[in-house]
This record gives sequence, C-alpha cells and structure tokens, in this order.
Amino acid sequence: MILTAYALLVALPVALGWWLIGPARPWLDEASSAIAMMAMAALLLEFLFSGRFRVISAGIGMDRSLRWHQIFAQILTIAALLHPLFYLSPSGTAFQRPDDPTGALVLGLDAASLISGALAWLLLGLLIITAIRRDDLPYRYETWRVSHGLGAALLAGLALHHAISAGRYSAAPALMAYWAFMLALAFGSLVAVYLLRPWQLARRPWRIAGLERVGDQLWSLTLEPDGHAGLAYRAGQFAWLRLDCSAFSVREHPFSIASAPTDGKALRFLIKEVGDFTRQIGTLPLGARAFVDGPHGALCLEGRREPGIFMIAGGAGLAPMLSLLREAAAHGETRPITLLYGNRHQGQIMATAELAKLAAQLRLDIRHVLQEPPPGWAGLAGMMTPDLIQAAAAKAAGAGRVFILCGPEPLIRAAHQGLKAVGVPRHRIMEERFSAF
Ligand SMILES: Cc1cc2nc3c(=O)[nH]c(=O)nc-3n(C[C@H](O)[C@H](O)[C@H](O)COP(=O)(O)OP(=O)(O)OC[C@H]3O[C@@H](n4cnc5c(N)ncnc54)[C@H](O)[C@@H]3O)c2cc1C
Repeated sequence: MILTAYALLVALPVALGWWLIGPARPWLDEASSAIAMMAMAALLLEFLFSGRFRVISAGIGMDRSLRWHQIFAQILTIAALLHPLFYLSPSGTAFQRPDDPTGALVLGLDAASLISGALAWLLLGLLIITAIRRDDLPYRYETWRVSHGLGAALLAGLALHHAISAGRYSAAPALMAYWAFMLALAFGSLVAVYLLRPWQLARRPWRIAGLERVGDQLWSLTLEPDGHAGLAYRAGQFAWLRLDCSAFSVREHPFSIASAPTDGKALRFLIKEVGDFTRQIGTLPLGARAFVDGPHGALCLEGRREPGIFMIAGGAGLAPMLSLLREAAAHGETRPITLLYGNRHQGQIMATAELAKLAAQLRLDIRHVLQEPPPGWAGLAGMMTPDLIQAAAAKAAGAGRVFILCGPEPLIRAAHQGLKAVGVPRHRIMEERFSAF
C-alpha cells in the first residue's frame, strides 16, 4: 500500500509531463528528464521515510522505513548521476549534433540553472557519503542528523530551482502544482518533526521516577506521566526519549519500551551504556523532566498466528522481548515461546527474577548464551554466530514458528544467516536493530 502510493507519486510528474506536453525530443533527452523528475520526487519523499513518522514507522516498522530510506536514496543518486550524462552522450543534446544544423535541439541552460543543478549534484553526493560514513565523522550523532536534514532541505530547493528553470516540463502549471504539493510534504515533515511534535510533547511531560543499575553498564529507567494519561502503545514498540532537557532539544534517543501496556501508566526502559549520552544515564536526577515521542515501531505480535514464538535477543535487545512476554502472560498466551538471549558475560544478564516469573506463567524456554561463560556454566557458550543460531532454531523453524530478533546490527545479520540456513522465510521474521541509522 505504502509502496504503491510511493510508486504512483514518483511516476506522476513524468506521466503529467508526457500527457500535457508530450515527449518530442531524442529519446535520451526524454529519458534524462524522466529520471531527473522521478529522482526529484523520490528526494522529496525521502523526508517521510526518516523513521520519525508514526504513520509510516508504526505501519511498516522502523527498520524497514529506514532501509527503504537508504535504498531509495541510493537509487535516486544513481538516477541523478545519470541525468546530466545522458545529455553529454554522443546522441544527447548538450552540444550541437550533426543532424541538427540550426542548433534547435541544443540544450540551452542559463548560468543560474546550471549552477543550481551542479550544486544539487555535489550536495547529493556529500549527503550520501556522510550518511554512509557517519560513524567515521568526528561529530556527534545529533550534529550529523541536523546537518543531514538541513542539507536535504537545501538540496531539495536547489534541485527544484534547476528543474523549474531548466526543465522542459516542470514549469507547466500542473507540474508546478505537483512540485508545490511535494515540497509542502517534505518541508512540512521537517516542521512537524522539529517544531510541531516537540510543541505537543512539551504539553505532555514525564518525570524520571526510577533509575536503577541492573547489570554491568546497564540501567533500568522508569518514567511516569506528569499530569496526563500516559502513552497508548503496543508491546514491542519503542519511543524517542529526551531526558532532563527541553522538548525541543535535538538530543533525543530511541529506546524500546520494556514494560507492557497492561502494567499501567509508567514506562520502563532498559538502557545499555555505549556512548556519550547513555554513559551519563546514571547521573540523571530523579524527578527530572522527560519527553516521550512515540510509540514507534511494529515489533508486535498482534495478528501473528504461527504455532509458536522464537525470540533472539542480544544485550539490551531484551527490552522489547520483556514487553512482549509480559503482555503474553497478561493475555494467557498458550503457545510455546523460546528466548535465546546472548550476552558477553554473566554480569550483563538482566531481569533474571522477572524472566523466572514469566517462565512459570508461560510455556517459556529461556536459553542463555554467554561469550565469556564462568566456570561450570550450564548454558550455551560462544558468540551468537549464524551456526549457533541455526542449531538453536532448527526445530522451531521446522515447526513454523515466528522469529523475533532484537539487538545490535551484527546479531541481526547473524540471525538472518542462521535462520536462512534452516529455511525460515522472510515473512516469518520480525526485527528491530539498535544501530540502523
Ligand atoms: C529502534 C531502536 C530501539 C532501541 N532500543 C534500545 C534499548 O531498548 N536499549 C538500549 O540500550 N539501546 C537501544 N537502542 C540503541 C540506542 O538508541 C543507542 O545505543 C543510543 O542512542 C546511543 O547513544 P549514545 O550517544 O550513548 O552513543 P553513541 O556512541 O553516540 O552512538 C552509538 C550508536 O547509536 C546510534 N545513535 C546514537 N545517537 C542516536 C540518536 N540520537 N538516535 C538514533 N541513534 C543514535 C548510532 O547508530 C550510533 O552510531 C535502540 C536503537 C533503536 C534504533
């Protein structure tokens, strides 16, 4: 449904242009215009797939939304790179051709449209390279994110100027109306994310009601609504948190909700120290203000009719699993559930008592995997490799269970490889990566 709407919106400017004005130039020129218009439409739609829109992220999931954002960006970049090359080819019209003695077909660009086109081209390359190599940049994640959004907005402005001043089709009234609509969608999304949403959040504050160390570099954070009814969410979803700062701050981080909707209004999160923000979680004062933007994500079990559930979690990836297990227990789930839970060492295993209680309420089989097991360890030992996952999941795969994965990128990749080896089809795998963007 979302993909169909996307494809229609991307194809619409070409269809409108050809229908209203008609393709009358050499085919390479027409192809060049067509891919440029589609690339520009895709660029403007990229703003909606930034993972920040609940309509999209709660529908298709955060992972898929961001994966599409990245794939669409790569395709539109290739299209944008090809666009000027088509005109420069021997049968293109950048220069006068032997079969055009009067020069009528020569592509005449004024200086302004040439400059806006060239700048858009360079800026697109810069945005793509800095997104791919983000972790190697000497900036904080937040700095990258704001510059990525502003750079994309500037790129959209430059590309639109180029299209309207140089393009054969884009200045037509119907096309202008289309671009105005798409531009409003793109810029509206920025206004929604950076102004409207924070303004709404500021009216629904939360307080830090609990902060507890629950393992080596692991914290349990509890938030309580301050003067409102709390958050309506589904087990397995996540939220963007702003802690002890303004609702308009760009310092927001995504965390899975570890509590379940049936637990009440308070929200619980399990947070692992990994960088500058998470390392200072333990210093946050009780009672400090917090803002919860959510719920996002679709790692949810509603509607899944498979005969059993197999969870694969790494470290803090336990958070959404706990939420799902608590909700399952509250609703009297009777299907068999396995939790394959990997950590580096024993001090990182979280929620032991809670898991034992859940195991007594559900048909839950918990299998711990430790990279560095202590002497006498009775569980599985080693990294969560594709081989280990393949061996652990083989029976459940054959039984047609649904697989739920959560944790850092390497774990998700290993799980996919292991599950593929035992023939689990893609539609029986749900996932949430902790490091997708
Ligand atoms: C959907 C989702 C759910 C998550 N749930 C949990 C959870 O329940 N528990 C948990 O411990 N961790 C969770 N994470 C990971 C958590 O968001 C990052 O560990 C945290 O934001 C790192 O911030 P930092 O500044 O401490 O670390 P840094 O060293 O600055 O960042 C480490 C990596 O985390 C990511 N990251 C950093 N800042 C942000 C940000 N503002 N927004 C998005 N990504 C960022 C980047 O990929 C970065 O490379 C989740 C991540 C995602 C995407």
